Amino acid sequence: KKLGIALVGLGSYATHQLAPALQETEHCYLAGIVTGTPSKAKEWKRKYKIPDKNIYTYDTYDQIADNPDIDIIYIVLPNGMHAEYTVRGAKAKKHIISEKPMATSAADCQRMLDACREHNVKLSIGYRLHFEPHNQRVMELGQQQVYGPVKEVEAADSFVFTGNPNAWRLDKKLAGGGPLMDLGIYCVQGAIYTLGQSPVAITAKFGQVTRPDYFDEVEQSISWEMEFPNGAVAKCRSSYNDNEGLLSGKAEKGWWKLDPAYSYSGIKGETSEGTMDLPQVNQQARQMDDFARCVKENKETRVPGEMGLRDVKILEAIYEAARTGKRVEVKV
Ligand code: NAD
Repeated sequence: KKLGIALVGLGSYATHQLAPALQETEHCYLAGIVTGTPSKAKEWKRKYKIPDKNIYTYDTYDQIADNPDIDIIYIVLPNGMHAEYTVRGAKAKKHIISEKPMATSAADCQRMLDACREHNVKLSIGYRLHFEPHNQRVMELGQQQVYGPVKEVEAADSFVFTGNPNAWRLDKKLAGGGPLMDLGIYCVQGAIYTLGQSPVAITAKFGQVTRPDYFDEVEQSISWEMEFPNGAVAKCRSSYNDNEGLLSGKAEKGWWKLDPAYSYSGIKGETSEGTMDLPQVNQQARQMDDFARCVKENKETRVPGEMGLRDVKILEAIYEAARTGKRVEVKV
């Protein structure tokens, strides 16, 4: 049986990536939606043949508890809302996928983990790149030391933010921070899955604010360095004023580079031996299918809530390092 997924928050990512991906999945399907916008409910109902009984608003959300069609709730709301909707979803005894970053504080991540443990449901984070072949090759090259021990990682993820200056991504409360929370998290992830280790210390610096009309609450850009237990260093940067998506590694006897590294499609890679010849896949379909299988077979997901908490602790340490100008030790 395919498990039923309900998407919560029908914004850009749910509309353009997750719903189309759910047309390709084998172990789960789009069973329901939660939206505050009646016109979206109508459109999605028609487009995806969703029965009325599986359509919820934020006010009726908790009634999902009584709906056997919904096995998994996928939270695709602004970052600052992930915790509340995960805790309520866990109380409804549904398994949860929360988008990245897991929450806007480590304390909220912990609340999410506790709620899911208490109600005996699984919790996963939308880390799609763990299911993407080029990024999986980087994990292998780095962690299995195919070219010897990794010395240095470089990671950058940025885009030029245009559009509405009132968008939630620029609102400290809803976003938790600026590009670090939204994009820099991919650099943190990339460095960790290259090395197979978590960083032990961090230094960081905020960039200049050249567009104060946009960046009066969250940073416009940030750069940071992470030290790893094996002596490797990751040099990272993230900005809402640039276009970049890079993950590269230098090891003793070779190197690799993904560019673009984090996009939904068109990821390209090369190593010191030549071009990576790997397939393009639907990352989101693979990610959701994997979680559905974990639920069906009662297995651990490779992208669990604990990983989301680890990363948010690291993001908090990066902000602390940038704020204080000090080298911050991380314990995760
Ligand atoms: P979006 O702004 O397009 O969508 C957000 C949705 O939340 C909208 O439908 C909006 O109506 C709804 N919403 C409900 N209450 C809201 C409130 N108080 N303020 C603002 N919006 C509210 O954003 P998005 O790009 O779809 O991002 C949603 C989440 O998905 C974020 O956590 C983001 O980090 C994550 N995301 C992940 C990826 C990925 O590749 N894994 C890609 C994009 C976004």
